[in-house]
Amino acid sequence: MKLERMTFNMFGVNTYILWDETSAECAIIDPGMMSHFEEDRLSQFIESKGLKPTLLINTHMHVDHVAGDMYVAEKYGLPVIGCEDDAFLGERISQQVKMFGLPVNVNDIKIAQMVKHGDVLRLGDEEIKVLQVPGHSPGSIVLYCEASKLLVSGDALFSGGIGRTDLPGGDYSTLINAIKTQILSLPEDVVVYPGHGPETTVGDERRYNSFLR
Ligand SMILES: [Zn+2]
Repeated sequence: MKLERMTFNMFGVNTYILWDETSAECAIIDPGMMSHFEEDRLSQFIESKGLKPTLLINTHMHVDHVAGDMYVAEKYGLPVIGCEDDAFLGERISQQVKMFGLPVNVNDIKIAQMVKHGDVLRLGDEEIKVLQVPGHSPGSIVLYCEASKLLVSGDALFSGGIGRTDLPGGDYSTLINAIKTQILSLPEDVVVYPGHGPETTVGDERRYNSFLR
């Protein structure tokens, strides 16, 4: 599995393109584009690598992570994949736009394909396992590629940090507990790609993340 990070919008969201080299099928994870310029950057990358988008996945339904959903859904004909427990947030995207005072228009988003803990999504012969790590939002998921030892962690876990828990449906102790049981239990050389900021590893977060002591 190969992975490319593109950082979009005023929140600096990491949008990930994950692909299987054999089939060239790719997943677009948390498309955060908020302008035509950013949309073109994403599409140009996909075209330059000859990739075929087959999955559109949201780690959670906060506006900065889903702003490019409609572009990707329409351009590549893909259903929005997300966790049911965040469906209510998708239906309140326009409220989130107002709450953050964003200078853009993002429509509400209906999750078309619900996933839950333990589900497996396929990219060619490769597997992406869905793990629920709630607390930043109720329906936050992380995406684990066991064979490639990589994890896309959304806003649950950052390098040296954790997601904020003061937004609707957030809960601090739920988040800490979920990170410890679902992420820190993975092999320590798994590389973690967060929704904001640089990558890290399970081992480094186990040792150095002061929120998780
Ligand atoms: Zn978020």
